[in-house]
Amino acid sequence: MDHPCIAWSGLSRKIPVLVFFAEAIVSKDGNIRSVGERYNLAFKIVRTESRLVRGLLTTHGFHEIHPNSNDFNLMWTGSHLKPYLLRSLQDFQKVNHFPRSYELTRKDRLYKNIQRMQQSHGFKNFHIVPQTFVLPSEYQEFCSSFVKDQGPWIIKPVASSRGRGIYLVSNPTQIPMDENILVSRYINNPLLIDDFKFDVRLYVLVTSYDPLTIYLYEEGLARFATVKYDCGTKNIKNQFMHLTNYSVNKKSSDYVSCDDPEVEDYGNKWSMSAMLRYLKQEGKDTTLLMSQVEDLVIKAVLSAELQIATACKMFVPHRNNCFELYGFDVLIDSNLKPWLLEVNLSPSLACDAPLDLKIKASMISDMFSIVGDSAHKGRYIYIFFKRKPPYKKVTSQNAN
Ligand code: ADP
Repeated sequence: MDHPCIAWSGLSRKIPVLVFFAEAIVSKDGNIRSVGERYNLAFKIVRTESRLVRGLLTTHGFHEIHPNSNDFNLMWTGSHLKPYLLRSLQDFQKVNHFPRSYELTRKDRLYKNIQRMQQSHGFKNFHIVPQTFVLPSEYQEFCSSFVKDQGPWIIKPVASSRGRGIYLVSNPTQIPMDENILVSRYINNPLLIDDFKFDVRLYVLVTSYDPLTIYLYEEGLARFATVKYDCGTKNIKNQFMHLTNYSVNKKSSDYVSCDDPEVEDYGNKWSMSAMLRYLKQEGKDTTLLMSQVEDLVIKAVLSAELQIATACKMFVPHRNNCFELYGFDVLIDSNLKPWLLEVNLSPSLACDAPLDLKIKASMISDMFSIVGDSAHKGRYIYIFFKRKPPYKKVTSQNAN
């Protein structure tokens, strides 16, 4: 049967796989739904609320089962799976997390893993995150760095999100000593657009850790602060100037949203491609920037590859049971160097603005197509599929 939603996979091209179409979420095309229904596909959503994922799966003919049932093809969950649940997966079942992904998505673990790579493969090769200390244990080391670089520094809870608990300090005495926190060098020369600081949300899909298979989605979001940037310490407490989180800035009366999905460069949230077009017009080398972004993504994932691949060997019974979509937050500085700020487990799929729906529906739809059959990449770019690392191994003597 020929249908745009069905592709034939496998060596003999006899296995039907579903190709997803983002438009179905709006058009609710009955033909697409009925093709999916024919294959009796089921999903469940656990510990998260994702209207977008539910909408895409149901419009493609999947039916939703009770969270306690195990009769699913796809499980979409907001958190990691317990080892006994992973072990019970059958070969046709898929879940949206790898075991031990927190090696990437917890800020303290990410930094430690990258630091380890800096030591074994050369500091310069892995200088992709701002210098960070975990307090209180590394307080002395932090003080020694503070003598050389008086900041400001940025304080973050070890495992938090949406800008919660984040603030800037210009003096070690302002740091609480009774909690586990991270203190990172503050990048005080961010690239500005119209004088505003912004960061970029990128979507990274990993379909396998062994062999490592990473895809970067072509489109992303640029998120702007709501107060013009000033690098002086006078406004150090102004979150609307220094933090670019949507959850922080939407509380500002200056937040501007855009109601037209066709307009991608207006207000406080732009598409990444609109941001890149703007920078290109300003004479910036955006091709070089994006190749450095790819390099950063690969290196970050590599830094947790071994731990996650080992956990997969221990807990995951079949090769294609797990996949994961990570949200990478990247800050670009005025020298056009991208810095990795953090990797989000379960990046927000909320669609508050029409631009969110436009970008995220296609991104999730292309993700499901790849997960079904890697021949259907959509707008994802294959950025790492060989085991050859994109850097040279150096010995500890010539590190730095
Ligand atoms: P959260 O998980 O709470 O969003 P982030 O690490 O992403 O934490 O930090 C929140 C925001 O703070 C970022 O979006 C960015 O605007 C700003 N920020 C974080 N770290 C730095 C840094 N080292 N230098 C400059 N700005 C930073």
